[in-house]
Amino acid sequence: MTMYCDGPVHEPFGPEYVRPQNADCPDCECCTAALCAKGRANVTECAGNVDGEMKERVANCPCSAESTRGTLAWRAGMIRATTYATERPLREELEHLLRAIADGQVNGFTELLPKLVVRRYVSWTPGSTTQVALTDFGRAYLDGLDLPRTESLVSVQSVDEAARTVQALIPAFSAEQPVTVPMDILTTRRTELSPPELTEATLYAEVNPGARTADDVVLTKVRNPAVVADRPKSPDGAR
Ligand SMILES: [Zn+2]
Repeated sequence: MTMYCDGPVHEPFGPEYVRPQNADCPDCECCTAALCAKGRANVTECAGNVDGEMKERVANCPCSAESTRGTLAWRAGMIRATTYATERPLREELEHLLRAIADGQVNGFTELLPKLVVRRYVSWTPGSTTQVALTDFGRAYLDGLDLPRTESLVSVQSVDEAARTVQALIPAFSAEQPVTVPMDILTTRRTELSPPELTEATLYAEVNPGARTADDVVLTKVRNPAVVADRPKSPDGAR
């Protein structure tokens, strides 16, 4: 760089080009706070928002991980598990194993265990005292089978496009306590809504009114009655 050596005196400590660094995330060892904020708001997590070498470094960042309650990846996992429970349930042997794990009756490797681990319904940590444990997704799956689901009004109060979530009142769950819902399940081709339109829209979805907490309220089958073509499908694919 010669363009700044314009005087007779060489200036070795000359202009300091300090790139504004992003502050480190206080909750992990791998990311900046800005990256974790992005990762939490993206189902591809922190690793999906960086390139090359950084990908490896931030892989498995706990701040954005699917296994961390409240991340967008976690919310997507809860919806996926519930959808599978209500629409494409596991075969019987797998359901029995999942229920046995939920009841604490299994704590070691069994032949079918990997099939539940790969769906992230169960965590399996060989060598630890609790080797086999039900995950939030395993619980959501069983709740999807066992607990009532009902259609409710979804009244969007506010939209956070950066976090890709909305706050919504879901009267079937609570008249006062808002529920955080992934924005993208409300702004689909089927609802024909854009984010700014959500607070004005009347939407319906199937929910679990008995959810333990607001975060455990899982919306499926989101429906915009203003879209005429959005009729309920006939249950021909049901088993
Ligand atoms: Zn991170």
